[in-house]
Amino acid sequence: MVELLKGKAVASSIKDNMRKDIEELAKGNKVPTLGIVRLGDNPGDISYEKSIIKNCDNIGIKSKVFKKDVNIETEELVELIEELNDNKEISGILVFRPLPKHIDEEVVRNAISPLKDVDCMHPLNLEKIFEGNMDGFAPCTPKAAMEILKYYEIPLEGKNVVVVNRSMVVGKPLTMMLLKENATVTICHSRTKNLDEITRNADVVVVALGRAKFFDEKYFDEDSIVIDVGVSLDENKKLSGDADYDKVSPIVSKITPVPGGVGSVTTSILLSHVVLACKNI
Ligand code: NAP
Repeated sequence: MVELLKGKAVASSIKDNMRKDIEELAKGNKVPTLGIVRLGDNPGDISYEKSIIKNCDNIGIKSKVFKKDVNIETEELVELIEELNDNKEISGILVFRPLPKHIDEEVVRNAISPLKDVDCMHPLNLEKIFEGNMDGFAPCTPKAAMEILKYYEIPLEGKNVVVVNRSMVVGKPLTMMLLKENATVTICHSRTKNLDEITRNADVVVVALGRAKFFDEKYFDEDSIVIDVGVSLDENKKLSGDADYDKVSPIVSKITPVPGGVGSVTTSILLSHVVLACKNI
């Protein structure tokens, strides 16, 4: 019988720890506050923003939205970020990505104060991850995947872990986090040959293609532990992971559901970073 690695319990445990920290901060009259920078009215951004604000409200974190026109120039966006860097009320800054094509993302990434960089945009914070220092602001999605593995006590030391993704937001930082836990990591991507053979032979497989139901039963066996990071719409416009859940769940040992898996932990990680930023200021 497959074990479902649900995100809700993981998120609750992260929130319990956060509540204690928020109470401590309140004694010093400090309230963790998230500054959200949104460009334009992308429905995906608006829905993510609503969910973050709701989660902030529920736990006692303040949030403020700084909405700008989607045609804003890089210089003006940098000015806003610098104002937020200097604003003592703001503990952490989240800039919604992807940024419009005309914005120089490199300049923006470097403008954000590393101390307020709760979404790990600044190169300094990413560099820390690559050096094996996990105490700062790690990228939220790979950290959420790691928190799930930790919460469900899935051993990583000496285990073969396959990550199907090589992006800077998911696959590469996740690989560093897994190495820190002494896993033996293989990174796969669109040019990988015999992907099914590689994933079938792994102890843990992290899939993050963003292609609904791509992975069927041929990619796994009865010992496979599947962490599904992918979120996209299937042919019926239903939210789906990269794994074809109906085909895969009867044969694998453990799997994260979508929705209700990695995505449900990501926001808690982000909020925990806002609390950490407030403690550090
Ligand atoms: P991305 O940059 O498009 O990366 C996709 C990766 O999948 C790339 O490394 C790509 O390889 C690889 N890939 C594509 N087709 C493949 C194939 N046929 N076989 C093997 N590998 C293949 O996307 P991303 O920003 O990293 O995000 C990945 C997905 O994670 C998103 O689509 C989204 O669904 C999900 N996501 C979830 C959360 C969450 O909180 N749950 C947060 C962020 C993202 P190449 O490098 O060779 O192109």
